[in-house]
Amino acid sequence: IYELDSVKMKINDNFEKLPESYLFSTVARKLRDFREAHPGVELIRMDIGDVTLPIPDAAIQAMHKAVDDMATKSGFHGYGPEQGYDFLRDAIAQGDYAGMGITADEIFISDGAKSDLGNLGDIYSEDSVVAVTDPGYPVYVDSNVIDGRGGELVDGKWSRFVYLDCNEQNGFKPTPPEAHADVIFLCSPANPTGVAFTRDELKAWVDFARRNNAVIIYDSAYCAYVTDPATARSIYEVPGAREVAIEVRSFSKTAGFTGLRCGYTVVPADVCGTDARGSKVPLRKLWLRRQTTKFNGASYVIQRGAEALYTPEGKAQVRTNVSYYLHNAEIIRLAMQEAGFKVYGGVDSPYIWVKSPKAEDSWELFEQLLAQAHISCTPGVGFGSLGQGWIRFTGFNTTENTIEAMRRVTEVMR
Ligand code: PLP
Repeated sequence: IYELDSVKMKINDNFEKLPESYLFSTVARKLRDFREAHPGVELIRMDIGDVTLPIPDAAIQAMHKAVDDMATKSGFHGYGPEQGYDFLRDAIAQGDYAGMGITADEIFISDGAKSDLGNLGDIYSEDSVVAVTDPGYPVYVDSNVIDGRGGELVDGKWSRFVYLDCNEQNGFKPTPPEAHADVIFLCSPANPTGVAFTRDELKAWVDFARRNNAVIIYDSAYCAYVTDPATARSIYEVPGAREVAIEVRSFSKTAGFTGLRCGYTVVPADVCGTDARGSKVPLRKLWLRRQTTKFNGASYVIQRGAEALYTPEGKAQVRTNVSYYLHNAEIIRLAMQEAGFKVYGGVDSPYIWVKSPKAEDSWELFEQLLAQAHISCTPGVGFGSLGQGWIRFTGFNTTENTIEAMRRVTEVMR
């Protein structure tokens, strides 16, 4: 009765504009080919983008207990509040934002930072001008392209975005642009470069946003890795940020929740946008509406696990895991410097951003390290055109493997 070619539903054409992302699949294929061609050779993965240590015990115990709650009539939890349980919102307000004026009702629990970073596009208009870093975490670009804010892709750049160049001249820390932007995505400590803003550097961004009536979406997924006292963990450490910044965080890299899924977004009551009539509208109201409409809350068990990370034991266990990865990052940073490479990151971050004095191309350096040192990395060009010539290492392997990998690099590259 129905002919297939009569289907008239029009797709969101923006999906067709998005180029395929070949980065991780190409890395995986090249590593598979290498293993097949070199059986018996021990390849060390220095490109791991996921945490590898188990979940801190405090969270495990709390989740066991929460599962038992679910087995009883009195402890059973069905649908929870879309914005998260108060026990976790309170723990976050006190544990992460004490003294910064952030209250529990400004914190929205989610199933992770990636969802929130993409979903926030629901609350600003399609014609907003979006600023993104090059290189950067690809979700900012791709989700805004899907929402229709990219324009056309010309020579690797989207015509409607304002690009915030990160390069050696600015130490991979972007400074506010000349051009106007309505929404600015910043990430600190940054993926992939591993560099992080000091409070003073961040102040320049908050001032820019205030002058331009812009809103900063601040991705602080790696804040647990901040060790330098001058480095900001939260944008709300900067006076005035409450009126112009949304902060997105995650338990993924802090406590190994990449598979459990839990994160949160802070939308202070003071951050506003403008509606078609020119009236100010608090973004918190829109985000609450968005979440209550399209999201049904993160799981009770997982939120109990996240809550336990704020107990004294939980905090100590998180610190131990983060220190382990940071120690690996330091080993990499020092070894690569010694081998004559230019190095950024690895101090307040599990990521180390590396440039070879010889290779011009990220993939060339990838191939060189694979063939000669039998170690893998992530080619920086996959994070944006200005990542060309750079690679990303991570501190997520074991310390033993990290030491061995760096021994090989220094031997081969000397
Ligand atoms: N933001 C950045 C900068 C990331 O690198 C990642 C994950 O790698 C995320 C957000 C996603 O975090 P989540 O696991 O909470 O979705």
